Amino acid sequence: MQMLLNGQWVERRQVIEVCDPQDGSLVDTVPLASRDDMRAAIAAAEEGFLRAREMPTHERMRVLNDAAATIEDEHEAFARTIAREGIKTIREARKEVTRCIETLRVSAEEARRLSGETVPFDQMPGSENRVGYFRREPIGIIGAITPFNDPLNLVAHKVGPALAGGNAIIVKPDSKTPLSALKLGRAIHDAGLPPGVLQVITGQGSEVGDTLVVDPRIRMLSFTGGLDTGLKIMSKVGLKKVGMELGSNSPVIVMSDADLQHAVEANVSGAFWAAGQNCLHVQRLLVHDAVYDDFCEGFVSKTEGYRVGDKLDEGSDMGPLIDEQAALRVEALVQQALEDGATLLTGGERWGTFYAPTVLAGLPEHTPLAQEEVYGPVTILYRFQKLDEAIERANDVEYGLQAAVFTNDLNTAFHVADRLHCGGVMVNDSTDYRIDAMPFGGVKGSGLGREGVHFALQEMTEPKLICFNLR
Ligand code: NAP
Repeated sequence: MQMLLNGQWVERRQVIEVCDPQDGSLVDTVPLASRDDMRAAIAAAEEGFLRAREMPTHERMRVLNDAAATIEDEHEAFARTIAREGIKTIREARKEVTRCIETLRVSAEEARRLSGETVPFDQMPGSENRVGYFRREPIGIIGAITPFNDPLNLVAHKVGPALAGGNAIIVKPDSKTPLSALKLGRAIHDAGLPPGVLQVITGQGSEVGDTLVVDPRIRMLSFTGGLDTGLKIMSKVGLKKVGMELGSNSPVIVMSDADLQHAVEANVSGAFWAAGQNCLHVQRLLVHDAVYDDFCEGFVSKTEGYRVGDKLDEGSDMGPLIDEQAALRVEALVQQALEDGATLLTGGERWGTFYAPTVLAGLPEHTPLAQEEVYGPVTILYRFQKLDEAIERANDVEYGLQAAVFTNDLNTAFHVADRLHCGGVMVNDSTDYRIDAMPFGGVKGSGLGREGVHFALQEMTEPKLICFNLR
């Protein structure tokens, strides 16, 4: 596929090969953009921004809604692209396409709600004759850098609010999964966006991504990816707004009064969705002693029923990791945990890029898996007696994206929700629960700022005050 630079679909002699992670087969190629290409995109975006900010709200809404309609018409083709280039099964990919359509439609709706307030200036003696208001203005050119795991909807979460707010945006998608972002770019471009408003530049993060990060003409850098890359970006981003959506090792607390069957089903899905390559992945399950054995039996048995295989097979529940290096990393983390004294309840095998759904128990505190994000299909069971112990353990990591509690007691639910240090707490859903209109983001190493269309739109616009001195 070609990339979208200044309203044109362009090729480059050097390309990135996009390969299916399950068998290494070539899916397509995309241009390997240079730093000069990215600088050209930024220059085009300066013009694009002037056009974007002049677009009336109804036109921004029309473009977003038309793009959503195109994606709806081509739903299956989008799903197959996600499933071929990335790690999702076709059933998982279809859900992502449906959510992307929702993200664009919610963005269109939020465009119409972007408003300001009047300011009572006469609260200050001497300001009796002033009247005024503030409204929200676009911030300029937004640089968006996105990861491989949700190659369509995570891009829509940046592009939708950026366009709703009247900004220009340049997307640098993950090099392993750029095709979905390019297809999204085509749907939006074909809806009639002026040149330079949305560009999708494919190339290496350390090259073209870095150019976006350091360029002072970029007024906001919106990044979703790993903590290490996030820290690198923070060290050189300069004076611009930053949104950081990073990883986690999400905790779930299961109380003795919980509906155990529901808790098992919700958490198996949360643990192995996208083969665990999901920032909301259920990594740490803290289960009350009174129900631990029953929960453990149900969880392991349901995990063993999971079908791992060909992503395009309708019967597959789980696909591969993004590459062999990622699978080897997960294997090494599990191996280290076992050597450090953990018990393997099921799984623990790798073949090529696939890693079996794996459940561990008895994990010692000092093993890396107890603190790091596994980013693979591995979940750890912990037994607790006192709720405060579970809350302390849940909080005792450098991440805090979403957490969950399963209980039928409202007092417990409020107690736990108040004490978990994270961006969102789910009661009777796994940490993997999300809709596109809710505030979404983390604390500590999980990030800075919030996405979720309304909240991203606030981050991508800034208040401008207008004050009249009536004389
Ligand atoms: P990654 O290695 O950090 O890559 C993410 C993006 O950053 C890619 O587009 C990559 O480009 C680019 N990049 C790499 N180095 C860069 C640099 N020096 N400067 C600028 N850009 C650079 O992450 P990943 O492996 O794709 O994703 C996994 C992580 O994302 C996990 O930790 C996961 O939890 C997190 N995540 C968070 C959320 C959330 O909403 N909180 C959602 C999904 C995923 P190349 O591909 O070209 O290297």
